[in-house]
Amino acid sequence: MANSWTAEPERWATIDHSALAHNINMIAKWVKPAQVMAVVKADAYGHGAIEVAQTAVAAGATWLGTAHVREALALREAGITAPLLAWLHTINTPFDAAVAHNIDLGVSGPEIEAVAEAARTAGLPARVHLKIDTGLSRNGAVPEVWDALCRRAAELQQSGLVRVVGVFTHFAVADDPVGESAVDEQLRNYHEAVETARKHGLTVDVRHVANSPALLSRPDTHLDMVRAGVAIYGLSPFADRAAEELGLRPVMSLGTTVAHNKPANEGTGVSYGYAYRCETPTRLALIPVGYADGVPRSAEGAPVWIHGNYYQVNGRIAMDQFVVDLHTSRDDETTAPVGSQVELFGSASGIAADAWAQAAGTINYELVTRIGSRVPRVHKQWV
Ligand SMILES: *Cc1c(COP(=O)(O)O)cnc(C)c1O
Repeated sequence: MANSWTAEPERWATIDHSALAHNINMIAKWVKPAQVMAVVKADAYGHGAIEVAQTAVAAGATWLGTAHVREALALREAGITAPLLAWLHTINTPFDAAVAHNIDLGVSGPEIEAVAEAARTAGLPARVHLKIDTGLSRNGAVPEVWDALCRRAAELQQSGLVRVVGVFTHFAVADDPVGESAVDEQLRNYHEAVETARKHGLTVDVRHVANSPALLSRPDTHLDMVRAGVAIYGLSPFADRAAEELGLRPVMSLGTTVAHNKPANEGTGVSYGYAYRCETPTRLALIPVGYADGVPRSAEGAPVWIHGNYYQVNGRIAMDQFVVDLHTSRDDETTAPVGSQVELFGSASGIAADAWAQAAGTINYELVTRIGSRVPRVHKQWV
């Protein structure tokens, strides 16, 4: 509810739907005739799953992907009807609801029995994508049980409980040129697995293997569909190539306003542990976001933009806030006064989420995905 006292957000993650549509469009053209699955797990990597899914479908994604069935169900509840695949299950996954709501299921092994049971309950065949572990060692059936899994899937398909729609796998090192040969090997294993499935009479209409790094660097992985995650958010999956070079436009900007501005003396200790001390008389700006908002505590030294100027995080990032040394004179009240616009990364500053990720010793994926629920997402519509 919009109360008068909450009309303007105090901190925001702006989600640029024009950029999102641009990225999806670009990827769709690049991989054509392969289809694009927009991966919207983890609340669309922190961008807002429902809003992102809507724009993704309007911009040319023909499939949506989530890790959990419950994430997929939330999209169905929001009225999203596009084909939807979920692939990470537990003994407590609501397969009944998944089948009833036409959610395709990744199947890696014995859970095919629970899926078939859910189909019996729902009175509908379960749509299944069999997953082969070609070398990542997460889920997926290992090659020695693949034949048995295909045989069982074919039996269940015969009895009308299962309909095998696709076969898929996931790469381990597609983001690194030294992984070329590992991708080659996984791809070889994958094609063999598809052959085995076909020998069992399964049709395998949708073959899909590529994540963002693979779809951007290896056209031979496009097959019938790509599963595009981080790239649709305008972020590069490669350590050595910026989003810009790939033609991608970052979707999320993270901002707030200066909450406090005050003078400080030479030698003043800043924030917990005095990890920073002012070297000269100066002024300090207080930035009201911290690790509870997903700003990593470890990102000391990360860049910060305040009303057109660039600074950095000085001292420890706390739960709710951090401090920036403005490096100005002690009595300067005009630089970054209270209320000045602040951006940690995004379109006003041109600071990449990667810079924050690097300062924190992590990757852009984690940085954006962990922006907290205390930060409202402000959706800028696609124009
Ligand atoms: C998360 C995920 C993706 C998307 O990966 P990106 O590198 O973000 O493109 C694709 N497939 C599976 C199985 C995933 O878990």
